[in-house]
Amino acid sequence: MTALLSAQNLSFTYENTKQALKDMSFNIEQGCFCALLGPNGAGKSTFFAIASALNRPTYGNLFIHGYDIAQTPRAALALMGFVFQQTTLDLDLSILQNLRYFASLHGIGNKLGEQRIQEELERLDLYDRRHEKVRQLNGGHRRRAEIARALLHHPALLLLDEASVGLDIATRRTLVDHVHHLCQERGTSVLWATHLIDEVRENDQTIILHNGQIAGQGTAHELAAPTLEQTFNDLTQRGQTCLT
Ligand code: ADP
Ligand code: MG
Repeated sequence: MTALLSAQNLSFTYENTKQALKDMSFNIEQGCFCALLGPNGAGKSTFFAIASALNRPTYGNLFIHGYDIAQTPRAALALMGFVFQQTTLDLDLSILQNLRYFASLHGIGNKLGEQRIQEELERLDLYDRRHEKVRQLNGGHRRRAEIARALLHHPALLLLDEASVGLDIATRRTLVDHVHHLCQERGTSVLWATHLIDEVRENDQTIILHNGQIAGQGTAHELAAPTLEQTFNDLTQRGQTCLT
């Protein structure tokens, strides 16, 4: 079976200054929750820029269900939903207006759009707030609104870049739970980028990224020797020099 996401020797260099990703190879199968765990500067957002076709790989390929993101971005992007590190909602529009705009960009008809918006907002306990401007929402509600938006076109793969940054522990836990439920209930595959070890669950496929390279991969359970935190610290704090 074709993997939903397949990175093959993916490498990226910023304008001849810095090699931010080096020879990154991994797969995400359908219905898998994959944690991309790396400290600040590891290359997580660089990977997201490639996955969203903002940047082209310098070398290697990224396939989304067999579609090469650099060659056939439209087909690949239609299968993905994104929550980026920086909010991309329009702060002066309501949640409903933001979601309607996104649905129409994706060519989702009015009736289906309204139905999906209601479904996603109810699932995230946001429906009663739909007329509130994003600017008035707290950080947790904004993140939930972004997740609802990213799911409107029913993507097979949801990618979230540090989606929980700045949120309190209880709100973070709710978000992580919700996204795990999506995997279990809908079979959505997830790539969850974070620098926070406590967001990774025992059965999650885990990729430890350090200085643009995969330093370890397996389930969190397999990587825990004796704990995931210990492995993470060993692999990322040995003072390895940055790639140049
Ligand atoms: P992370 O998201 O894991 O914190 P990034 O992907 O943002 O990491 O950054 C990876 C490396 O690439 C860092 O060393 C960062 O300084 C560098 N970098 C990121 N964006 C740029 C850019 N636009 N130009 C040059 N270097 C960059
Ligand atoms: Mg980042």
